[in-house]
Amino acid sequence: MTSLHPTPGMGEPSTSGRFGHFGGRFVPEALLPACLELEDAFRSAWADPAFRSELDALLRDYAGRPSPLTEARNLSRQLGVRVLLKRDELNHTGSHKINNVLGQALLAQRMGKHRLVAETGAGQHGVATATAAALFGFECIIYMGEVDTERQSLNVFRMNLLGAEVRPVSSGSRTLKDAVNEAMRDWVSSVETTHFCLGSVMGPHPYPWMVRELQRVIGDEAVVQCRALLDGGVPDVVVACVGGGSNAAGIFAGFVDTTARLVGVQPEGGAAIGRGLPGVVHGSASMLLQDEHGQVSEAHSVSAGLDYPGVGPEHAHLAAGGRAEYPSVGDAEVLEAFQLLGRTEGIIPALEPAHALAWVAREAGRAIPAGATVVVNLCGRGDKDVAHVAALLGRPTDAG
Ligand SMILES: *Cc1c(COP(=O)(O)O)cnc(C)c1O
Repeated sequence: MTSLHPTPGMGEPSTSGRFGHFGGRFVPEALLPACLELEDAFRSAWADPAFRSELDALLRDYAGRPSPLTEARNLSRQLGVRVLLKRDELNHTGSHKINNVLGQALLAQRMGKHRLVAETGAGQHGVATATAAALFGFECIIYMGEVDTERQSLNVFRMNLLGAEVRPVSSGSRTLKDAVNEAMRDWVSSVETTHFCLGSVMGPHPYPWMVRELQRVIGDEAVVQCRALLDGGVPDVVVACVGGGSNAAGIFAGFVDTTARLVGVQPEGGAAIGRGLPGVVHGSASMLLQDEHGQVSEAHSVSAGLDYPGVGPEHAHLAAGGRAEYPSVGDAEVLEAFQLLGRTEGIIPALEPAHALAWVAREAGRAIPAGATVVVNLCGRGDKDVAHVAALLGRPTDAG
């Protein structure tokens, strides 16, 4: 049914947290004990059937898992390839981020901590973390670049409604990468009570591994759903968008040991794999966008959720080994794809998964042979992006 791919799958990284040349734990001395404590706690929790069944129950009864795999018949007819949508946009809070934060909140509780800190860029991870903190009765502090608090004021209010405190970060470029630094600083100084709930497959070991394992549920479900739906059980291509890379890592983990092609789609202005260079940022070695002096540069994308200059280290490793490919798409193609899914299937995607759809629309009949079966991870819903897209398309809205 599934044939083993010759390259290694997505297992545990080395003891130092390495995925080949990437990953690791590049942190100040003061943070090392916190990383080691977290690694031990996660390893023991992940091997504990009681923890796993408690998390499964939360994912089912609170987040709404499993998410369906939907045959996109109209879109398939139009593109000439068979498109299946993994509907993670149907989760509570509207994206895959809830999978990760529920796991980390449950882990924090097991570690005896009662305070969550997190970074956020566009605000999606901050909202998800604030949601989990409310559910668990934790104190919650969200660090957000000052620039982002202004651009995403509605999400700041949303986090406040959920009982979280949003702390604007005014250092550096006052955006996501500065917010990560502040959240880490808070964690070092309050590690007795506090868990740092990192939002993607990045940061020092064990985060890239832990977050991938918490998102693996997407791939595990999709593999079973494909088996029931497809002759032979395995799709030809599995496609996801890549910001830090957590939704892609989650769905890839289900298919890495099959013959399926794995494709992670990056925004053209944030293509760390392809346009970036090896470097270290936020505690791990990976590929990242840098200027000629080795300074981390800003990423630019129509979708704020993909505006990250780096990429999770395991993706850099999968790219280096040739097991996954990381093409990029431009903003104009993304806006087309955003509208295409609404018209053909009655589903308005978030701008992030619209990147994955844009690649499928562009490559159907080219890099994707006609008639091939493609699973697209629809990792978020588009409600949050409607006003932004209206402005980009020059459509009047009530807001102006
Ligand atoms: C945050 C977000 C992303 C980017 O994060 P990854 O770690 O790359 O998954 C993508 N899609 C949506 C809907 C998001 O909210």
